[in-house]
Amino acid sequence: MKADEKRLEELRRERTLVLIKPDAVRRQLVGELVTRFERKGLKLIAMKMIWPSDTQAGTHYTDSEEWLKDSGERTHQSYLDKGMEPPMGPRDLALNTRRKLMDSITAGPVVALVLQGSHVIEAVRKMRGATSPQLADVGTIGFDYSVDSYEVGDAGDWAIRNIIHASDSDENADREIAIWFDESDVHDYPSSADPILYQKHWDK
Ligand code: UDP
Ligand code: MG
Repeated sequence: MKADEKRLEELRRERTLVLIKPDAVRRQLVGELVTRFERKGLKLIAMKMIWPSDTQAGTHYTDSEEWLKDSGERTHQSYLDKGMEPPMGPRDLALNTRRKLMDSITAGPVVALVLQGSHVIEAVRKMRGATSPQLADVGTIGFDYSVDSYEVGDAGDWAIRNIIHASDSDENADREIAIWFDESDVHDYPSSADPILYQKHWDK
């Protein structure tokens, strides 16, 4: 059978946005993290260091009604699950979470990456692990580089320190890449791994 070149091209062009968060940059983990992505065969197609403005942070961590509702209800419920009285209503809880997120992402420079490859969105989410490093599997970035948890973050009043942000869907990847990069900052080039990963006759 002939290879379906069009489908292969579509599959290998999937993109995701990664932000190496300010605390991880401060800990000098950038090289190690980039190495993990390269080692897997994901292609780096854009990279820069940016100290996020409040506007960029607020666009990235959107305050859409949908997000406020989802996040607020989740946090509200988690208080009830723990047998605790929620300190405020769901909407204020969501606004409070967003404030903490914006404080954490504007605390210093981030390193923003665009990674490309088949199933890259799912792959990088798996590599990061669960939102809380306490719950993340051993071997994930969250587990391997952080000891944070909902409990610790709540006690300290900070957004969970889980080393990287990674887009969670195609739609969010497109939206988020556009916040941090101009299209001209994102590069299309052949890597030496490309033929081995995406060509039937890689040995030719
Ligand atoms: N976060 C938090 N407490 C929560 C939910 C999220 O501190 O209850 C922080 C955490 O740093 C997370 C970020 O907010 O990475 C964005 O939340 P999201 O639900 O999108 O988590 P992620 O996509 O990182 O798993
Ligand atoms: Mg997210």
